[in-house]
Amino acid sequence: MYAEVAIALPLEKTFHYAVPPQLGPICEIGKRVLVPFGKRTVTGYILEQSRHLPPDITGRNVKEILDVLDETPLFDKEMLPFFRWVADYYLAPLGQVIKTALPPGINWESYYHCSLTQEGKRVAMEGSRRQDPAVEVLQAIDPEQGNLFNQLLKAHPHRSLFFSLQKKGLIALEARIKPGRTKVKRAAFVEIMPPPSSPEPLTSKEEEIYAFLTEQKKVSLGDLRKRFRQASSVLKKLIQRGMVAVQEEEIYREPVSETVEREEAPFSLNPEQQAALQQIGQALNEHTFRPFLLYGVTGSGKTEVYLRAAHDALALGKRALILVPEISLTPQLVGRFQRKLEAEIALLHSGLSPGERYDQWRKVNKGLATVVIGARSAVFAPCRDLGLIIVDEEHETSYKQEDGVRYNARDLALVRAQREKAVVIIGSATPSLESFYNAQRGKYQTLHLTQRVAGGVLPHVDIVDLRGKKPTLLSPPLQEAVARNLEDGGQSLLFLNRRGFSRSAICADCGSAFTCHNCSVTLTLHARRQALLCHYCGYHIPAFPVCPHCGGGMIQLRGFGTERVEEEVRRLFPQARVARMDSDVMTRRGSSARLLMALERGEIDILVGTQMIVKGHDFPQITLVGIITADVALNLPELRAAERCFQLISQAAGRAGRGRRPGRVIIQTFLPEHYAIQRAKDHDFVGFYQQEMATREALRYPPVTRMVNVRVSSTNPHDAEQGIQRLAKKGETVLKGLQEKVEMLGPGPAPLYQIKGRYRWQLLLKGEGVISLQRLSRTLLQEGRGLKGVRVEVDVDPLSML
Ligand code: ADP
Ligand code: ZN
Repeated sequence: MYAEVAIALPLEKTFHYAVPPQLGPICEIGKRVLVPFGKRTVTGYILEQSRHLPPDITGRNVKEILDVLDETPLFDKEMLPFFRWVADYYLAPLGQVIKTALPPGINWESYYHCSLTQEGKRVAMEGSRRQDPAVEVLQAIDPEQGNLFNQLLKAHPHRSLFFSLQKKGLIALEARIKPGRTKVKRAAFVEIMPPPSSPEPLTSKEEEIYAFLTEQKKVSLGDLRKRFRQASSVLKKLIQRGMVAVQEEEIYREPVSETVEREEAPFSLNPEQQAALQQIGQALNEHTFRPFLLYGVTGSGKTEVYLRAAHDALALGKRALILVPEISLTPQLVGRFQRKLEAEIALLHSGLSPGERYDQWRKVNKGLATVVIGARSAVFAPCRDLGLIIVDEEHETSYKQEDGVRYNARDLALVRAQREKAVVIIGSATPSLESFYNAQRGKYQTLHLTQRVAGGVLPHVDIVDLRGKKPTLLSPPLQEAVARNLEDGGQSLLFLNRRGFSRSAICADCGSAFTCHNCSVTLTLHARRQALLCHYCGYHIPAFPVCPHCGGGMIQLRGFGTERVEEEVRRLFPQARVARMDSDVMTRRGSSARLLMALERGEIDILVGTQMIVKGHDFPQITLVGIITADVALNLPELRAAERCFQLISQAAGRAGRGRRPGRVIIQTFLPEHYAIQRAKDHDFVGFYQQEMATREALRYPPVTRMVNVRVSSTNPHDAEQGIQRLAKKGETVLKGLQEKVEMLGPGPAPLYQIKGRYRWQLLLKGEGVISLQRLSRTLLQEGRGLKGVRVEVDVDPLSML
């Protein structure tokens, strides 16, 4: 027997291995195997089994599979075409796609171990040649244990030196393998056996435990020990007599989910919700692919529609998959689903420990969960009989994975639903241009909710023009509004999409800015940490440094972030209960849920924060939203800057006035006439859509075309530039032979030229025809493989091109 195996490494090809007889019975499609690959041992996934090798391989020396790692397959054969589609569309290796689709941390990792030979030890000991880099390397190696090769490379980054030492017989490099970090957890369970024919008399203690076990039928050993102090000795006797048995079983680690609880009087859907649900219900009954865009203003009861649609899918014996942008920020939604659906719900997201995540995933794989709620990667959940997929807040950029396989989970939800003949609902108050465009062209059916539920109204919005005024964080109108809201007992949200204390710091003497050592960005002051910090790579220096250019010690701060706003708010309103929510303070697990619960209980008067606070939260007591600077998103050199700005303002505004009292929004801006801000003020999505689409059409930008960003990066600026030039030249020759028109923009340096020490150049491909775009990208990727010292990445449908 032979097996076709995809390897979890960036390799385009798949490989064939022979199945040794002893592994034959346990080899199955969807299981992981250990296979030799070059000098290493790596993890692979079985894609196919056959009696014969394909003709092009027959006759070659085929290696054997070393081991099978799983008892149960991790994916069904039916998932393979989906994985292949993803690999094809995003130009990613199949093995990488499968790895992305599976829970993290389960694969066996191979690594190189480096140790000194006898001769090497001698040379290192003598150490006479102090200036010799080779001796220095030898002396860095632990003479007894050796070291991880990667670790040594950090201090001595010259691979070639190590290889020459290996050739000279001074060091030994050995490939080793270590098991995945995440494992199946097992526990011992005590089970009652059929009663013996001639029972011996039991002591009273034995009787008590036996009776307990008879009643419970099966108890974990741990629980039994907790309950009865003498459990161990009694058990021993009972086992000897064959009255009970102990067995190991797999158990599932259950995450303690932090949810926001709320008592709610039962209500019936309003006519718009009903109409939407009816359409969805009909589609579910047809058991075919039907895509819906649920476009409903903030607070129009979209979540309620999702919930009842999921209920209907379950009633038909189908399962439901619900994607949310970030679970830690949507505890309300999870809580509502858990309370209102009588279903086994699995949660899949990165906030879980790897073990918990693996177990939740296994529960889905074994068919024990009927509803899956998860972030981006849950789109790959091994859920069978899918009837319904929901993508909440479909416009959110967190659905896009920005490294490795750069997929967009919203788009894959549609692809998967199509494959599995499921109904898919993507929902938003501010749909992405892509989705609204598709709906306009009839690709999705639009379900429109125009009203807030139960007679609520959208908040009134005022714009404060910051131009020509004395710079303040909270303008007089905003200050006054916060003060009044505080008096009225309402809660206020103050939103600014930048964390830290100040945006940048410059030397007052020579005017030069403090920039990151590894990235082309300025450092942001974080006052509590007393550091200037890079938001891209984490590089930091203590605040306040001496200017490296002129030696000056006077530092001037420019701009501000949430940390500064919080300080200002505390100063202005000393009597108020103030909290901040951004990724600097929300570092602990469950911290955002705890903060949101405090908000729900009315323990916070003013909440300052980044985009974290404007997600789909539903807090009826929030009556004021202040947007400190609406222009942050607009000032980025990005194609979607206006769209992002409109979404953020609308979503922030959408948090206000969701209860009985009407809400108010104040937007501070230097660009009061900008259409993104004006349209957001008027709650006019369609108006914004039309205006923005006019620009996109004129420039032939997405969604009227598709884009691929080809990026070349290197630690050497010269290599990066040369690399991109090579690709551009290659591209020119390919362009002519393409069926459909593709434009090539660039090459040019990326707007953020240097990130994490790598210099970056890019080439943007733009066109209407997917096939031609793909062909060109694939050719460039192949060309890039031949280039030394550079990394070539292809981002299909990129969201950010910074
Ligand atoms: P959205 O997801 O559109 O922002 P939600 O579904 O969260 O809106 O609804 C907002 C609030 O209104 C929730 O507390 C929800 O329970 C409640 N709600 C939803 N539909 C109705 C309805 N038909 N009547 C009364 N309350 C409703
Ligand atoms: Zn940096």
